Amino acid sequence: MKDADVKNLTDIVGADWIITDLEQKSAYFYDEIERALRPVANEQSIVVKPKNTEELSAIMAYAYEQEIPVVIRGGGTGLCGGATPVVESLILSMERFKKIIQIDEDNMMAELEAGVTLRELLDELEGHKGIAFPVHPGDEGAQIGGMVTTNAGGARAVRHGIMRNHIKGLEVVLPDGEVLKLGGRLLKDNAGYSLMNLLTGSEGTLAAITKVILRLYPEDKYSATLAIAFADMDQASAAVLEIIKSGVSPLAVEYQDKKLNLETAAYLGLHWPLDEGEADLMIILSERSEAALYLACEQIEAICRKHQAVKAVYAGTKKEQAELLMIRSGSYEIIQELIAHNLDMAVPPARVPEFMRGLRKLAEKYGTRTNIVAHIADGNVHNDILLEDGKIPAFTPDLLKEMYELCFQLGGTITGEHGVGKLRLADLKLQKNNRELELMKQIKKIFDPKGILNPGTVVQIDGCNKN
Ligand SMILES: Cc1cc2nc3c(=O)[nH]c(=O)nc-3n(C[C@H](O)[C@H](O)[C@H](O)COP(=O)(O)OP(=O)(O)OC[C@H]3O[C@@H](n4cnc5c(N)ncnc54)[C@H](O)[C@@H]3O)c2cc1C
Repeated sequence: MKDADVKNLTDIVGADWIITDLEQKSAYFYDEIERALRPVANEQSIVVKPKNTEELSAIMAYAYEQEIPVVIRGGGTGLCGGATPVVESLILSMERFKKIIQIDEDNMMAELEAGVTLRELLDELEGHKGIAFPVHPGDEGAQIGGMVTTNAGGARAVRHGIMRNHIKGLEVVLPDGEVLKLGGRLLKDNAGYSLMNLLTGSEGTLAAITKVILRLYPEDKYSATLAIAFADMDQASAAVLEIIKSGVSPLAVEYQDKKLNLETAAYLGLHWPLDEGEADLMIILSERSEAALYLACEQIEAICRKHQAVKAVYAGTKKEQAELLMIRSGSYEIIQELIAHNLDMAVPPARVPEFMRGLRKLAEKYGTRTNIVAHIADGNVHNDILLEDGKIPAFTPDLLKEMYELCFQLGGTITGEHGVGKLRLADLKLQKNNRELELMKQIKKIFDPKGILNPGTVVQIDGCNKN
């Protein structure tokens, strides 16, 4: 970065809020993507930390004028390299956008600055009895702005949907520095094209999100977790489809390979209660009354029995429930360093057993195996290609291509929730036709004609590509 640029940016944010030292700034280069998949960060990039929309807007206007790429960084919990600057960039950290502007109990909405983390929002809601925000991607260090631009999902999407379903208003800064307010505390707003929906899931490529208005909901007081083993995946999947059709509305329905459940439990010093059967489900229920919770449990157990469940374990206390959840969410920690490629495909829910069988067969064909973890009721399957002797196997591109082909045959998508980022830039072309890709590029050009925002992410256009 030129000295003049550093000086001009320092004039905007103050010397305490800009980092040029390599050791300090390298903490901002990567997200949580597996080491083997990381795009290479450009080490000339510097970090700038505006404190409010005015400063952020001034930085964007300067970057636009000087054609300096800008990569916005939220909590850095992304899984597809979106927050990594691959060309010399300003890394615009949102960590000072921390205000919870209002928890509006009358309208049941929260207005927040974009750098508030999910944990901070949940802590704030503890003080507002009976009110909850339901979307929960696995890492509570994710910022609300990051969750908006990645359109985060997570286990509770079965009942509550994804981030897009709860966003009511945004304040955004366009690449030329202009500030726009979209939507508001409205439950209905049908005025023109929904730019708010376009920006949701845009992965920091169209605008910076500075404020968010989210819808809130009454809190369920009673919860339980069921761990259920089935003889095979077909039975487990048939039970899931019937549960959803029955009108019982679980908070989450999760699948994880039994091997992973047992290994993670051993690693954490916990006990996984299902040793029988081939396919384990974890179903989380939450209801407003104890009676409704018991009824939902009974209905689910009856459906599972009908589909030859071999064992069902009920966790009622907070401790028992937390331990099961720790086993489900702790598995990533033990496989993260073994992964050559991490997939996030989704297929129609009824095609899940076929899909999982097909993925395992493909792995076998290449002499390897694949770990499978799934938000199964959503049809969202996370699986991997494993390293061999610590290296990415030469067959990785071929196996990946065959896994995608299987996914497309079943009517699926390359990413259900983590996004395209930099990891799936080329893969997107396998799924989308030219006309659709061209429309995406034109939209990018309208918002960001000089291509300064997050180059090399989602779609590639000719633009600002300074090195
Ligand atoms: C253990 C673990 C489990 C996870 N489980 C799930 C899951 O179940 N479901 C799920 O959907 N995700 C999951 N994730 C992924 C991740 O937590 C989400 O994608 C999250 O929404 C990213 O938010 P962030 O603030 O960390 O964004 P970052 O990683 O900082 O950035 C992600 C992208 O958003 C852009 N961005 C960030 N903030 C802004 C802003 N204010 N304005 C404009 N652009 C911005 C960045 O440029 C980047 O392209 C998981 C991650 C981990 C580590």
